[in-house]
Order: sequence, then structure tokens, then C-alpha cells
Amino acid sequence: MRQQQRGVTVWFTGLSGAGKTTICQFVEKELRIQGYRVEVLDGDAVRQNLCKGLGFSKEDREENIRRIGFVAHLLARNNVIVLVSAISPYREIREEVRKNIPCFIEVYVNASLEVCERRDVKGLYKKVRAGEIKHFTGIDDPYEIPLLPEVECKTNQESIVQSASKVLKKLEELGYILPNVNEL
Ligand code: ADP
Repeated sequence: MRQQQRGVTVWFTGLSGAGKTTICQFVEKELRIQGYRVEVLDGDAVRQNLCKGLGFSKEDREENIRRIGFVAHLLARNNVIVLVSAISPYREIREEVRKNIPCFIEVYVNASLEVCERRDVKGLYKKVRAGEIKHFTGIDDPYEIPLLPEVECKTNQESIVQSASKVLKKLEELGYILPNVNEL
């Protein structure tokens, strides 16, 4: 375990199926191998406990993000590297969280709606098209793209390793992790 590490929040935002969880898991594994203390706050998991009962209205989505941001801040100030994976569709609330958290790295996980829908990892798009789910981000609910993300992963053009490497490189550049001699 590394004795000295600085806390930081890495916030993955993007459409459902864009690749947030996949990249997060890869980065988490790599950081753990390198001996860093890491915690993951995954939108889907969080909605079953910390944010249970919240729905998908604008207000509830904002509350969801605020709560995640609050916990991320607590962890990061105790020198944990926090990886947040949440659609977080509204720019204003992402910016609010950024303002409240001292060390914040925004990662825009970018894949077109067509690509996400083709992947349909959780079968949700199929349900949306069948009319079983309403207010789905990218379809009948907005997604506001980040204007100045620290990292952009274009997951329809990059491999998972390439996307994850971009995130690790940024952490390295900003001095949160040491350069890794064993490049991925
Ligand atoms: P999200 O968490 O954004 O809803 P997931 O990570 O659950 O998305 O699903 C993304 C899907 O896209 C996975 O099946 C993954 O294997 C695939 N994929 C293809 N290329 C990439 C990439 N460069 N980065 C992340 N995921 C990718």
C-alpha cells in the first residue's frame, strides 16, 4: 500500500452504454495493482442504497449527483482516489460538484447514441424503444455534453485499454499517481 497519495475524484459522464463502468473497472484494477487506495461509486449501485427512491426527473437526477459528489468529497479528502461512474446528464450540476470538490477530473466517455444502442449492454434501449421506459437519457431526456472535460474517451474508436490509459495518463500528468514503468 502506498503511504503517500493525494485524493482526487475522477468523474466519468456519458450516455448509458458509452463505457463508463468498463473504463472505471479497468482503471480501478490498474490502480489497485499499483498499490493505490481506490473507491468506486457506480451510479447503478448507488441508486440501490445511498440514492434509493430517487427517480429520473431533473430534480431527482440532480439530487443523485449531489449525494454522489458529497461522498466522493469525503473520500477524496481522506486521500482516496475516487472513481465515479454516473450518466450525470446535466452540465450545471456537474459544474456545481466540480466547484465543491477541490480535485476534480471530468472524463467524457463519448460514444454516439447509435453505438450505445447497438451495444445495448443492459437491454435498456430495447425497453425504451418498446415504450417500457420513459425519460431515458439521449432519447427522450437530455444529455448535455461536457464543454471542457479533462479527458475525452471516444469509445467507438478506441480500445478499452486505450481509453483507460488516457485516464491514467491524466492522473500521472496531474501528479496524483507516479509514472508507471510497466506501460499498459
Ligand atoms: P456504461 O457504464 O457507460 O453504461 P458499460 O461500461 O456498461 O457502459 O458498457 C460499455 C460497453 O462498450 C461494454 O460492452 C464494453 O466492452 C464496450 N466498449 C467497447 N470499446 C470500449 C472502450 N474503448 N471503452 C469502454 N467500453 C468499451
